[in-house]
Amino acid sequence: MARADTLTRARELDRPELAYVVRFLAAGGTRETELTRAELARDTDWATARLRQHGLAPGQRALLTASGFEGFWGHAVIGALRALKVTYGIAEAMGWDHRRTSVFHRELRPHAVIGLSAETLEGLAGGADIGEMFRATPVVLARPAAVPVLRAVGVSACLLSPVGPALALECPERGGAHVNGAEWRVGDRDGELFVAAGEQRTSPLPETPLGIAGRVLSGRCGCGSEDPRVLLAETDRPS
Ligand SMILES: [Zn+2]
Repeated sequence: MARADTLTRARELDRPELAYVVRFLAAGGTRETELTRAELARDTDWATARLRQHGLAPGQRALLTASGFEGFWGHAVIGALRALKVTYGIAEAMGWDHRRTSVFHRELRPHAVIGLSAETLEGLAGGADIGEMFRATPVVLARPAAVPVLRAVGVSACLLSPVGPALALECPERGGAHVNGAEWRVGDRDGELFVAAGEQRTSPLPETPLGIAGRVLSGRCGCGSEDPRVLLAETDRPS
């Protein structure tokens, strides 16, 4: 069957409302929650607004480093890049794929690198000057363990981190990573973060301690957002 016919047939099929079963690590072990297509669409809109805050605009290029199992937030970020008409490449965030990050960074000269991990940095450090490489990249959104490494070499990195099934994304104010307050309720207790499904979320998630050391700031951010901000102990650790 020709490809066009296959696609036509596929479009006629029912699409289940469930997009993902999100599996994440919590304080008591692995937990699961669901992610519907409607929720994913709202997550994508939110990620689009956050990336627009960082100045991402049509015609720019971006490099996303993420793992396949992170589709629950990776898909929202990819959707955001598409909505913003930003051309993107994807590399795996695991250390073994650092060469792909290196090649994309050299060839794409991305305006933004999103999801940079400490494992990727470790791999790159064997053959490159990390500071030289990323100081020239206007927007670097890095994972918790990578942020202090980058800041130590003069890269103005902002934090990106999954917080259970939610995504935390720091704005250019660098005052903590925003979590979509319309979709999630995040807080801290005894120095550790918890997350619960917010009022808009149709997939249920009761308050779940995450075993992640950190705290949550409420109140208006300098960027104008009222979304809560997550501060992680790992990111603030002196490097
Ligand atoms: Zn902000």
